Amino acid sequence: MVKSGFGAHKVAVYPGSFDPITNGHIDIIRRAASIFDKVYVTLAVNSSKRPLFSLEERRDLVAESIKELPNVEVAIFSGLVVEHAREVGASVIIRGLRAISDFEYEFQIALMNRRQNGEVDTVFLMPDEKYTYLSSSLVKEIAGLHGVVEGLVPPLVEEALKHKAAERLAK
Ligand code: ADP
Repeated sequence: MVKSGFGAHKVAVYPGSFDPITNGHIDIIRRAASIFDKVYVTLAVNSSKRPLFSLEERRDLVAESIKELPNVEVAIFSGLVVEHAREVGASVIIRGLRAISDFEYEFQIALMNRRQNGEVDTVFLMPDEKYTYLSSSLVKEIAGLHGVVEGLVPPLVEEALKHKAAERLAK
């Protein structure tokens, strides 16, 4: 593991909806886990979004997907992400950048977060290029139409998506 700073314990939070977690998210988590001593994958409670998976379902899917990474933990927060960062002692927020199209929104959020707390910096990580077209919303759309999501999400998430699609059919 790469240790940062002069022996300082570097903690990062990776916030998001993770509705559901994809292999793109996991790629970012692995990269973050090799740079920072501790990474919290933090589920944001966002009342303006209507998630497919409940908070508990999303937490369990994240926990299962990261279980072999010893320095990664799942957390839940509502409110400001900088506040959560302060609570867990993190000085870095991780976000993933897939394409230039992500940049404008992410840049705005990063600067707004800095305004809230100037001691927390946002670090952007790029996934392997095979995940640059991958998003939770696209995965949900494909799975909802009974398409193939194998290789895009962990097997457990694939099962959970099939289950949701079957539930919807039964309604
Ligand atoms: P949010 O609702 O906060 O955008 P997401 O779960 O969609 O939550 O994404 C969380 C973070 O992960 C964001 O920074 C997003 O850009 C990044 N991300 C999403 N999908 C990928 C991917 N395929 N590769 C790399 N980063 C990704």
